[in-house]
Amino acid sequence: MTEVFPGIHWIKMPIPMDESSLAHVNIYLIQGESGYLLVDSGWNTSESFDTLQKNLAEIGADIKEISQILVTHVHPDHYGMAGRIKKLSGASITMHDIEKGLIAPRYVTMDELLKQTDRWLVTNGLPHDEMVGMRDATVGLERFIVPAYPDITLHGGETITTGLFNFQVIWTPGHSSGHICLYEQEEKILIAGDHVLPTITPNISLHPQSVENPLGSYINSLNDMKQLDTELILPGHEKPFTRLTPRIDEIIRHHEQRNREILAMVKDEPKTAYDIAMDVTWGVNASWQDLPNFHKRMAIFETLAHLELMVANSQVKKLSQDSVIYYRQT
Ligand SMILES: [Zn+2]
Ligand SMILES: [Zn+2]
Repeated sequence: MTEVFPGIHWIKMPIPMDESSLAHVNIYLIQGESGYLLVDSGWNTSESFDTLQKNLAEIGADIKEISQILVTHVHPDHYGMAGRIKKLSGASITMHDIEKGLIAPRYVTMDELLKQTDRWLVTNGLPHDEMVGMRDATVGLERFIVPAYPDITLHGGETITTGLFNFQVIWTPGHSSGHICLYEQEEKILIAGDHVLPTITPNISLHPQSVENPLGSYINSLNDMKQLDTELILPGHEKPFTRLTPRIDEIIRHHEQRNREILAMVKDEPKTAYDIAMDVTWGVNASWQDLPNFHKRMAIFETLAHLELMVANSQVKKLSQDSVIYYRQT
């Protein structure tokens, strides 16, 4: 455990999957007057749980002293163990109201969302014979999640006071529809979740649970963030960093570059998101055929996010033929 700022402890939690490009997920333990505020939880695995306990012991704390768990978004790496910690400590869970709505379809009822996603992928060009493999790539993850509903829901604009700190809640839709960041104005600290990471570009996807134009929302919420006066950024992955605006500019340039790449692909003929995703430079050393299904699925969703942004900007138009959606440059 590292004390990244007096009263804020950084804990690196393990990630259970080999094929993940992420080495760990960061959670932050923040000292309050009566107990700790924990930002994010890590996956629910015994390794994660042991890591948390070991780190708490280092500062003479106990899991029972966690009084509040704030979830930046309900992706399994950030939310998976929140329910287990709550059961042991009685801590309240706080998250954005939109994220609350994602819990049941993703982690409790599941079947309906899986079927909806199958249909969605096929509509976007996925061949029928690849559908089952694509679905199986996400099934089984639920064993790393203890679903728990929030006690407190947020909409952005609230202040969370922990004793030493006053965190403003900033709603930052894009990576997840109800993603939030926490900003401490006095100390110039931003807890960024997966909204801004120091070198990895956060995944922005269009899928059945996302907002209409997630990449548009994401870029807007990134640009809004540039006005914050920050000295320390505490991200959900990789390491804490200091320079927010240059990193935001880099992320936006990356997306603009990919927009141009995709736009050129649909210049002469309409293509499906699946066709386009196969040809995009994903920055991995593997051909499309060799990519794991989980990555292929994300690649299609990311391609769709770019296409929808360009539809909103009138650079691309959306056509439908035989229940399949194609995109073409306008
Ligand atoms: Zn995430
Ligand atoms: Zn994450």
